[in-house]
Amino acid sequence: MPNFELAERVASLPPYLFAAIDKAKSEVASQGIDIISLGIGDPDMPTPDFIIDALYEAAKKPANHQYPSYVGMMRFREAVAAWYAERFGVQGLDPKTEVITLIGSKEGIGHFPWAFINPGDMALVCSPCYPVYATAVRFAGGTVEYLPLLDENDFLPDLDAIDEATWKRAKMIFVNYPGNPTAATANLDFYSKLIAKAKATDTIVVSDLAYSEIYYDAAQKPPSILEVPGAKDVAIEFHSLSKTYNMTGWRMAMAVGNAQLVQGLGKIKENVDSGAFNAIQEAGIAAMEKGEPYVEKARAIYKERRDVTCEALAAAGIEHRVPEASVFVWAKVPGKKSSAEFVTDLLKTTGVVVTPGSGFGSSGEGYFRISLTVDTERLKEAVSRISQL
Ligand SMILES: *Cc1c(COP(=O)(O)O)cnc(C)c1O
Repeated sequence: MPNFELAERVASLPPYLFAAIDKAKSEVASQGIDIISLGIGDPDMPTPDFIIDALYEAAKKPANHQYPSYVGMMRFREAVAAWYAERFGVQGLDPKTEVITLIGSKEGIGHFPWAFINPGDMALVCSPCYPVYATAVRFAGGTVEYLPLLDENDFLPDLDAIDEATWKRAKMIFVNYPGNPTAATANLDFYSKLIAKAKATDTIVVSDLAYSEIYYDAAQKPPSILEVPGAKDVAIEFHSLSKTYNMTGWRMAMAVGNAQLVQGLGKIKENVDSGAFNAIQEAGIAAMEKGEPYVEKARAIYKERRDVTCEALAAAGIEHRVPEASVFVWAKVPGKKSSAEFVTDLLKTTGVVVTPGSGFGSSGEGYFRISLTVDTERLKEAVSRISQL
């Protein structure tokens, strides 16, 4: 029998974060313990009906049954440019050259390094962070240097602590605000400084803005990095309809920004996929054009969940910051346990599933992440169980 060993790039991957938890979860569930899952950041609310209706109408058009365009429908890209102008005041994004449709932003983020990383090139990645950035860089043959996100720096990378030589070696830097898993936000001062450093050292800036619309205070809407004048010289930003409109299953997203960067990503995609289903893009246009009242309702629901959770955590003496955006609360593991021990003990004794901070990078050790993707009653119950551990 031949033995088909996995390629080195796959064999060397760290164990998949959720796989071990899933195994423990089914063991606990089989003992009849009531499981409350605050583990995965997948919105629990359904996609608004008007978006489903738009899909249904679009799916009936035979023209939409054929191969879509690689870069996405012009009308979708125009809707993205219009949405960026309306929401962020980012005017003049050229839908032809500075916008591309993605099959979910994970797809785009996963493919982007293939376009710009040569074997041996280095990328700066925050820790803790969404695991796809580092894996994508490594798949393309690059190496990763981590920037710790610390409480004392508001979970932003300390840009001044990166020495000149490192900036010069870095081919790209990834940032994600509002952040998964830290729920931290960045302001325009941070982005301006980042853009200035990147410009001075020819570094590509990759911004992941997946959670920009889940904010809790309309006076403090999370900005886009493209609001910084001149950001388009060095930046590409990934955005997604997934979290904004409860459309994670639909796989609909976009990248916008520097034309060379957007088109470089397009070159990779031309060779590995054939674009997103046109009918879903039509539904996506409807979402961006008419979705705001629905997002407003979702925000109110998340805000209530955040408040209930943070009040209960505070009462239980569990340290955390009250997030201004995202669907997460990032909290400190009480006592002296490691993140993994805490999460495993919590699951086994209370049935509550949270995500260990260390699973997002070594600087996440000592923390755990709560997803606000169950209703307030269950969140209250979960925190009360956490406090009894
Ligand atoms: C959910 C998520 C994404 C991916 O969203 P898609 O569904 O692939 O568009 C990207 N970045 C972060 C940080 C996320 O949490």
